[in-house]
Amino acid sequence: MEAIENFLSKRKEQGLLRYLRPVSFRKNSRVIIDNKEYFDFSSNDYLGLSGHPEIIESAKIALDAFGSGSGASRLMSGSFSLHHKLEEATADFKQKESALVFNSGYQANIGIISALFGKGDCVFSDRLNHASIIDGIILSGARMFRFRHNDIGHLKELLRKERKIFKNSLIITESVFSMEGDTAPLKEIVALKERYDCQIMLDEAHATGIYGENGSGLAEEDGVLDKVDLIMGTFSKALGGFGAYLASSKKITDYLINACRSFIYSTALPPAVIASNLKAIELVKKEPWRRKELLEKAWFFRSALKEKGLDVRGSSQIVPLVIGKTQRTLEAARFLQEKGFYLLAVRYPTVPEKEARLRFSLSLYHDKETLERLINAILQVGI
Ligand SMILES: *Cc1c(COP(=O)(O)O)cnc(C)c1O
Repeated sequence: MEAIENFLSKRKEQGLLRYLRPVSFRKNSRVIIDNKEYFDFSSNDYLGLSGHPEIIESAKIALDAFGSGSGASRLMSGSFSLHHKLEEATADFKQKESALVFNSGYQANIGIISALFGKGDCVFSDRLNHASIIDGIILSGARMFRFRHNDIGHLKELLRKERKIFKNSLIITESVFSMEGDTAPLKEIVALKERYDCQIMLDEAHATGIYGENGSGLAEEDGVLDKVDLIMGTFSKALGGFGAYLASSKKITDYLINACRSFIYSTALPPAVIASNLKAIELVKKEPWRRKELLEKAWFFRSALKEKGLDVRGSSQIVPLVIGKTQRTLEAARFLQEKGFYLLAVRYPTVPEKEARLRFSLSLYHDKETLERLINAILQVGI
């Protein structure tokens, strides 16, 4: 118990203690937290789909028809025809033979990686990959090699030196990185995968719904869908729902149904959630103006800050503004919160110690006037 107390008091001293704040209202990028209303710049509901009337209606119909829960795991009686329909729609969306729905992105990553790879195999992982990817690799028992973020030269060097002595090999990267807001060089990674006889797994959590002609993600945008063996992503971000998917060959999904522990030993997602996800895929395909407008807003916001000489990173709907010191970053976040903008100060250990930053998640519902007011407020912080 003493160790826990020490941990908590140390975190507090360093300004690193995290705590939860109840949200009493959230709609169209407005939130009320502790009785104060903010413009929300911390949500991943980029396209505002969680409030889309057609999605809400689909969920209500499924809720009335099937009840609140699915009642069992997929291998028992929890595999509703809705789940199968969502898997068909996802496979079609990703132009893959097959797809499997998972209960969350975290469960998907730890389950998929640990079921497909093990002792004697190796995984080459971008240094900034999400915690769920790292946990999946650790759980698998495969040897992990981390390459510098988006550094193709470093990946190639590691492949040349290490690939040979291992049996199966995987290269794994996110397509849009959640703390940098930048995108992976997929074409170059695909070329290396072929040359060094590896499989490639892509985590499209932040790209699904945003990139590509049909909105399926960065692999579609870069024209490499057929080259990526394992495409994972979530329904919980731009699609406004919950859960995750893997799109791949039928052989792989058949295997996972039989071997993936996080898929097998967990209750299936509720039918209402599945119905929302299905509708969201349909809407993303049908309403490309949403992603176009979102990316235009992000471009406007990022360029305005860049012009003022600020250290803004990335190229997507996620706009990180690097400040450096943890305390200064926390003060800046507090100042902006007082001005009515809710956003996160991202600090160690999520990002390197000297790169604390403000992370702005743009949404379709941020209008230009709000963005201009936010830019002015940022300039007042005096970074
Ligand atoms: C959010 C996220 C996940 C986890 O997805 P959940 O559905 O929230 O569990 C996995 N990978 C990446 C890159 C993410 O950003």
